[in-house]
Amino acid sequence: MKSIVAVGFDMDYTLAQYKPETFESLAYEGTIKKLVHDLGYPRELLDWSFDWKYMVRGLVLDKKRGNILKMDRHKYVKVAYHGFKELSKEEKVGTYGNTLIRDSFDEPDYALIDTLFSLAEAYLFAQLVDFRDNNPGKVQEGVDYSRMYKDVRAAVDLCHRDGTLKQMVAKDPKHYINEHTSIVPMLKMLRDSGRSTFLVTNSLWDYTNIVMNFLCESRTMNGSNKCNFDWLQYFDVVITGSAKPGFFHEDNRANLFAVEPESGMLLNTDNGSPMPQVGSTSPRLSLKGQNKMCRVFQGGSVGHLHKLLSIESSSQVLYVGDHIYGDILRSKKVLGWRTMLVVPELEREVELLWELRDTRKELRLMRNQRDHIEDKIHRLKWSLKFEDVNVNEKQKLSSALDELESRRERVRLTHQLAQRECHQTFHKVWGQLMKTGYQNSRFAHQVERFACLYTSQVSNLSLYSPDKYYRPSEDFMPHEFDIIPM
Ligand code: IMP
Ligand code: MG
Repeated sequence: MKSIVAVGFDMDYTLAQYKPETFESLAYEGTIKKLVHDLGYPRELLDWSFDWKYMVRGLVLDKKRGNILKMDRHKYVKVAYHGFKELSKEEKVGTYGNTLIRDSFDEPDYALIDTLFSLAEAYLFAQLVDFRDNNPGKVQEGVDYSRMYKDVRAAVDLCHRDGTLKQMVAKDPKHYINEHTSIVPMLKMLRDSGRSTFLVTNSLWDYTNIVMNFLCESRTMNGSNKCNFDWLQYFDVVITGSAKPGFFHEDNRANLFAVEPESGMLLNTDNGSPMPQVGSTSPRLSLKGQNKMCRVFQGGSVGHLHKLLSIESSSQVLYVGDHIYGDILRSKKVLGWRTMLVVPELEREVELLWELRDTRKELRLMRNQRDHIEDKIHRLKWSLKFEDVNVNEKQKLSSALDELESRRERVRLTHQLAQRECHQTFHKVWGQLMKTGYQNSRFAHQVERFACLYTSQVSNLSLYSPDKYYRPSEDFMPHEFDIIPM
């Protein structure tokens, strides 16, 4: 952290942790209404309900086939459902197992569930697939799985844009967003250590102001503090409507507008410097009552931000976000910013890893036992085939082989069952977020590749000194594992 001069934050699902049970339900209900009233879907959709725990991040939707997939880091599909029906091993291998024509599992045929904002649409897609399969003729003719996905996506998108969600949150932020009292101390700590702080969010100013007020203000007893701009004192620069990930493209030519906080009015700037209107002598950009002026903008690109913060090298910036594609991938891969990914799901995962530590140890022993038996069987078979053994010995070896083979089957079944149970403790359908069997999941792989740091909540930054040296764990090749120096 010593070389970091500016720490930036995304807002939604990073500083502001939405409560999926209320916020995603709102998105789900709003989407259904649009599907029924605007896009001609059957009215019975209005009776559907949302299981907000069912979908998880890292899943991939196969739009054409109506399938939902979880894959490992090599993009092998390990868990597959058609709607809510699990595919058999044969179906799974038949559809996704051809290694010669391996899919990239990316847009446009696939959709990635890579933000918590997508959980509702993924669930609705699965419901619609099920509904279409079980109620032939009820969904309009010509509306295939891909089209259903497209409709759901468009309806969700509209909910985010037309006020369906934001107006409700604005009325009662507490109902939709977790209170987080350590955000302000964390921001203060970073600023006291000499770092600049900034906010880059895709939300627009009016909404950003409401959410940040909720997160940063000390509320009155009845919780009805009016919005003010005090929270701006914790940031040097705030960029709203940033249109990430495009914001991170160095060749992005988006205009940067200054936002007048009181009115929300947008004012032209020249690379961040205010531009007076024709006929006016002084630019209208001042923040009354602010000791240190935080400048609020809309749009622009990373070049503007670097200039506003006087950043000389992009490796001096740490950016904290929740979206691998929107916040993390491009900022790190192309730009060279340092990145931190917020993964709230980790909290429960880590808890369970602790609870299940004995079971996981047993699982490892069973796996070793299976390997051991396999090796023994191989050696016996070898002896029977290639070694010069007499009849008596041959008989002994054969019966030992039979015994080992039936033991292998018993251990295999016990192991499989135990492993399935262990995974189901994490999630009844998708298992452990960061794993598929023994392999890291595709999501885990992306976290590892693109996030310099990852943590369950943004304020964990304040648990360590702002000059902390965060070290990665040492790399080991498989052949090194058994000879790790202690
Ligand atoms: P950020 O995470 O702070 O950059 O903000 C994310 C913003 O994107 C929020 O204002 C969300 O409402 C908005 N958002 C999320 N998903 C969608 C979508 O599908 N369409 C349009 N806006 C979205
Ligand atoms: Mg976000």
